[in-house]
Formats: sequence, structure tokens, C-alpha cells
Amino acid sequence: MRQQLRERLRDDRDKLMSRKLLKVEQEISSPQSTHIRLRAMGERNILNMCANNYLGLANHQVLVRAAHEGLERHGFGMSSVRFICGTHSAHRALERRLSDYLRTEDTILFGSCFDANAGLFEALLDAKDAVISDSLNHASIIDGVRLCKAKRFRYTNNDMSELERALRESHHCRTVLVVTDGVFSMDGNAANLPVICDLAKHYGALVMVDDSHAVGVIGPSGRGTPARHALEDQVDILTGTLGKALGGASGGYVSGRSEIIAWLRQRARPYLFSNSLMPALCEASLAAIDLAENADDLRQQLAARTCRLRQGLSDLGFRVSGSDHPIVPVITGDAAVAVQIADFLLSLDILVVPFSYPVVAEGAARIRMQVSAAHSVEDIERVIAAFRSAQTYVDGARPAWGADIPQIV
Ligand SMILES: *Cc1c(COP(=O)(O)O)cnc(C)c1O
Repeated sequence: MRQQLRERLRDDRDKLMSRKLLKVEQEISSPQSTHIRLRAMGERNILNMCANNYLGLANHQVLVRAAHEGLERHGFGMSSVRFICGTHSAHRALERRLSDYLRTEDTILFGSCFDANAGLFEALLDAKDAVISDSLNHASIIDGVRLCKAKRFRYTNNDMSELERALRESHHCRTVLVVTDGVFSMDGNAANLPVICDLAKHYGALVMVDDSHAVGVIGPSGRGTPARHALEDQVDILTGTLGKALGGASGGYVSGRSEIIAWLRQRARPYLFSNSLMPALCEASLAAIDLAENADDLRQQLAARTCRLRQGLSDLGFRVSGSDHPIVPVITGDAAVAVQIADFLLSLDILVVPFSYPVVAEGAARIRMQVSAAHSVEDIERVIAAFRSAQTYVDGARPAWGADIPQIV
């Protein structure tokens, strides 16, 4: 039996390998930054185009210092979950600061945003209720919804007439929750939050936004998608991560109405049964929020770099998805082509990652890049030049890669 499982897993893995779908982990031997070292590439200086390090805070000296001081003052670990003896003043300070930053009533921390989304639905909803979810929502939302007994409805990405149909069909349910990512991570496009909120209001539904890719990045002071549309008071539940723009270490949160947050402290299983965050991490995250809140200059720089990269690639004939978010996906359609482009770019000391099924739809493979405010003008020009060369050297010149894939709006 044991041998059988081992053989099956080896076969399955071999199949992935032969289809070029095997994920290979690059080992980084420097701090995370726009320029890194990779173990496989020795001493070469590699331009990193795939970190969630939107504001360049991952190795910021202010955060490093705050974490050091936190370690000195609070020690290393809490060795407990929150409700036993794992609640430190640093946790409460960070929860209050997040509420203050996001203009919500209260906030609860989780080990990750994945955990936040995994715990939220089951704690709040049962078979009398309904969840209406966008088809491109993050895996953690899909799994979280699966864990609860509420009726499930799904609408095609940003299709507001399908959303309205689901709202009509679920109208008899006790509580109806519409769930969307603020920014969709594989396409870099934004949720149509104004219409979502209008429809939800009309049908008496609640709105939840997972703003992991938006917090720190978009909206006034980087307060995210609800703030961008001045809809903070229309969003009942806001989840997000500390693992992207806000320093990039780890941790997640649910923020919103105080009764919801208070109930999650009683019932959310990843909160009740998983260790609390390291206090030093909370101290560094407090410093990250201070920096992010006052980083309009960085956000302007980020927008300028993003705009140039998108324009440069479009001018070359590449299909670039999304509109203005620093997630810049170049759609190739074919998975093997995405892999070949990534290999070619790495030979030019540029790290990008190809994504294919099942992470994205079959036949919609892509290279997803992510711009950082810490990227220089030269960095961006180098990437554009590399893509130009790729048209010559990768499998012949094919400037219209992915042209036949339906456009995501
Ligand atoms: C990254 C991401 C998550 C997961 O966040 P972690 O804190 O890394 O678990 C959840 N939702 C969305 C939309 C994300 O982009």
C-alpha cells in the first residue's frame, strides 16, 4: 500500500514534469528585494519581477529595526493561541492600528490571510444563509466557502448581471454575503466595487472584500479598494494580508463591524486553534503601516513604473491584462511558451514566473510580473528590452501571443 502511494505520486509528478507544469522553487540567498541572488545563479545580480513587495518595504531598514527592538523587548514567541495566554499588547496595538488605518470598527489578526478567509465563512454563516462569490476569487476564499454550509452562488468575474441574478435567487436566505477580491491576483484587474455595493444594498446583502493586493497600494493613503471608491461604510468585512505591500513577512486580518469581529474571536477555528503571531512581527507591521500610510510618493513612483511597463509591452504586441495595478500579466495562452519566456529572461538575469493550469484557466497561461516602487527606470526598460528579444529567440517571433484568449474585463 505504501509503495503504491509512492509510485502513484512519482507518476503524477513525472506527468507534470513532461507537460512542463512542475513548479520549481528558486532558492533566494539574499534578502528579498528588487535585486536578489539566486542559489542556482551563483553571484549574479538578478532583477526580481515577481515579489508582492509593492512598496519595497520587505527589507526596509525601519522595519528591520522595529522587528529587532520588538525581539529585544518582547522576546521570540508566544507559545500559545490568543485565548489561552497568547494575546500580547503588540497584537492589540496592531489590531487597533489596522482599524484606524482602514477606518473600520475593529480588527482580528490571523496567522495569514489564508487562515482569515478559511475561518470566516464557517463562523458567520450556516445552511440558512448564502455566499455569492466571484469566479476569480482567491483559493483561500474558495476553500473557506467550502467549509461552511451556506448555499453557494458563483458569478463570472465582474459580471454584474450574473451577480444580480444570484442576489435574486438567494433573496429568501437569512444572510446573503457577496464576496470579492479587491484586485484579482492573476489578472491584475479590479473588482467593480461601486456596482457590487449598489446591488448588495438593493437586495439587502452584505459585502466582503479581500484586499490583499490592494492594501498599501491603491486608494488614498493606500487604504485600498473601499477607500478608492469612498465606500468604506458599505463594506461589512475587509480581509487582507501583512505578507504583501505591508512588509511582506506574514499575518492576515479580518476588519469590519465590531459584532462580526467579536464573534470571530469566539468561533473562527484558525484563530482559536493556531498560534498567535510573533510580537516582533506586529511591531514591524505597525512600522510598515506608518510608512505605507505616508507613502504617496512611493505610490506615484509605482504607478509611473507600472504604466511604462504596461505600455512598453503592449507596444511590442504582447497582451497585457488588467489596467493600472502593478500586477502585470503577459498572456501567452500556451503554457510551454510561458515557461520558455521565463527561462529566456532568467538567462538575462531577470526573474519572472510562468503560471498555467490549474492556477489559471487552461489555455490562459501567462507570465505574471509585479512592479515595485523600488524598481528603477532602468530596471523597467531592461525588462521591456528582454521581452523584445524574447520575440526573436523564443520559439520564433510571435508578437501576438495569446491574442485568441478572451479578454477579461
Ligand atoms: C495573497 C492572498 C491571500 C493569502 O494571503 P496570506 O497572508 O499569504 O495567506 C489571500 N487572498 C488574496 C486575495 C491574496 O492575494
